[in-house]
Amino acid sequence: MSVNHTLLQRRYQTMGHSSPLFYKQPLHLVRGEGVWLFDNEGQRYLDVYNNVPHVGHCNPRVVEALHRQASTLNTHTRYLNENVVQYIERLTATFDEGLSMAMLTCTGSEANELALRMARHCTGGEGVIVTEAAYHGNTSAVAEIGTGFMPEAKNSKRVKVFSIPDSYRGLAGVSQDDLADVYAAQVQQAIDEFEAEGIKLAGMLVCPDFANEGLLNVPKGFMEKATAMVRQAGGVLIADEVQAGFGRSGHHFWAHQQYDITPDIVTMGKPMGNGHPLAGVVARPDMIEEFTREAMYFNTFGGNPVSAAVGMAVLDSLEQDQLLQNAISTGDYVVRGLKKLQHKYELIGDIRSLGMFFAVELVSDRQQKTPAPEQAEQIMNLMKQQGVLISRIGIYDNILKLRPPMPFQPEHADLLLETLDRVFQQVCQLEALG
Ligand code: PMP
Repeated sequence: MSVNHTLLQRRYQTMGHSSPLFYKQPLHLVRGEGVWLFDNEGQRYLDVYNNVPHVGHCNPRVVEALHRQASTLNTHTRYLNENVVQYIERLTATFDEGLSMAMLTCTGSEANELALRMARHCTGGEGVIVTEAAYHGNTSAVAEIGTGFMPEAKNSKRVKVFSIPDSYRGLAGVSQDDLADVYAAQVQQAIDEFEAEGIKLAGMLVCPDFANEGLLNVPKGFMEKATAMVRQAGGVLIADEVQAGFGRSGHHFWAHQQYDITPDIVTMGKPMGNGHPLAGVVARPDMIEEFTREAMYFNTFGGNPVSAAVGMAVLDSLEQDQLLQNAISTGDYVVRGLKKLQHKYELIGDIRSLGMFFAVELVSDRQQKTPAPEQAEQIMNLMKQQGVLISRIGIYDNILKLRPPMPFQPEHADLLLETLDRVFQQVCQLEALG
């Protein structure tokens, strides 16, 4: 693939040199279909990264619904509309009892911003507890809790962190059995520090998959214990399901449902509109009623009639194409293949998965668990050269992130696994030479 340098220069001139672009040789995509993407020269790529096209790139059901509603009516959100109410009824039906109202937005950042406002309004608190490696979006209040990525998070007095609850790496000197208690004790410590500093707690905001942190195997019991501590101190639990939600884990529609907890507020976005800007907050009705009665919130575009039609088509596709069941069966198939690769390559330290979401943690020494970020970068770039798109995550940037659209099938998994095998071989040979 050759880079279109004129287009790249025009992008630099109009969007700046640091506007994020994947890969040393950026991809110039022109078309998508199902799990496939096509570049400007007609080269086909298997998409094993993007969760926004949740029910597949250019899903015909979604495209048709968008076209139909956009040709009928689109307005701002202050008129009565059957579809919008029906969409929220269907959306909230996927939640536990007690989470029965929603407010719609356009982005995950806005959803988290709204969740923070609501939590602070309803608790009268300010302090928020997050992980040490969090990303929850780009507005100024949300940047403050983006401890893994955002400079704004460094000096905030109203944000405290706990270590990522990671069963694979654990904590020095702590047995596996004690991990949940020790991580939860860090949450309690954050609560105690806020109290000592005279800052009232608003709550804890986490992604239930800990996706940006590396798709962690969370020590059993941690979420339940930490949530009880936060509630005991007068705070609420906000589950950021922007990456984790809409059935990706297969067994549950929402990732928090794998635990024995019901959050007070859940935020969502990315897959919700399959690429159309649709996001939102589902919360306890008493919180939404109190917040909307006393504070002002209006979102011109969030959940307009076209967005509702698109959101409904995403739900239809998940149901009618049985995509949660597919996440379990094809997900298991991928994991079995990844485990075979782990037997073959010492570089693979750990494999974690939740339905159609996989993390392959690379280490240069399995005993020491020494992170291997250079190899992760090499593998990501070689995979792209060989027609498969993946990414990497984690505090050491050493974890391959595999998160394909939900219609991913075993035949696509075969191509992914064959290409991974070839690329691991290449990287290991290069290492042996170097
Ligand atoms: N929360 C999480 C967990 C995310 O990964 C992201 C985006 N990567 C966001 C929130 C922000 O969503 P958006 O980019 O739609 O504002």
